[in-house]
Amino acid sequence: MRFPKIIFGIKIRQKAICLTFDDGPHPVYTPQILQMLAKHDMKATFFITGSKIQKYRKILEQMISEGHEVGNHGYSHRNLIFKSKEFILNEINKTDELLRECGAKGEIVFRPPYGRMSLKAIFLLGELNKKIIMWNIPTKDYKAENSQSIIRKIRKKLKPGGIIILHDAGKLINSNVDRTFTIEAVELIIEEILQKGYSFKTISEMLKN
Ligand SMILES: [Zn+2]
Repeated sequence: MRFPKIIFGIKIRQKAICLTFDDGPHPVYTPQILQMLAKHDMKATFFITGSKIQKYRKILEQMISEGHEVGNHGYSHRNLIFKSKEFILNEINKTDELLRECGAKGEIVFRPPYGRMSLKAIFLLGELNKKIIMWNIPTKDYKAENSQSIIRKIRKKLKPGGIIILHDAGKLINSNVDRTFTIEAVELIIEEILQKGYSFKTISEMLKN
C-alpha cells in the first residue's frame, strides 16, 4: 500500500500563491473568470466536476488551451466516504479520461469533493499515484454575502505557497448559484496581491519548485 501526497500548501520561500476554482465549468461564471485571468495574464487551477464536462466541453477546451491547469474533482461531486472501491475508481478515472479528451496533458491532480475522504479512498488514490490537493486559504465564497468578506479571508491568510480555494460553479450541473461575489473579490484582490510582490502559479508549477 502506498500513501499519497496530501498537499495543504506548498513549502516555498518565493512569494507565489495558487488560485484554485472548484466545481465548474459553469456556463456564465467560468468564462467571466477566464476573461479576467487573461486580462491579467494569470494562470489558475480549476478542479473540474466530470459530469459537467460533456455539456461545457468548449469552455474546458478554452481553459486548457489558455494554459490553465485542470484538476480532477470527481465525476458526480458525491463525497468519497462509505463508497466502494469501484465507485471511487469510476469517479476518478472517468473524469481523468474526459479531461484528457479535452486536451489535459501531464499529471492530473485530485481534490476530493467537500475535501473529505475515507482511508479507503486515500489508499486508492495512493495506488493511482494521485496527488491530493487541499488548501490553506479558505474563503467560504459559496456562502459569502459580499465580496469584502472573501477578500478579508484571503488577505488574512496570504502567505508564500498558499492555496486559495474559490468556486466558479455550484455542486451540480443545475445548481442555481450566483458567483458574482467570487469574481468581484478576485478582481479586487489581484492587484493587491501583485503589489505585495506575489506571483500566481498553477499547482503543478508550484510543485516543481
Ligand atoms: Zn466541490
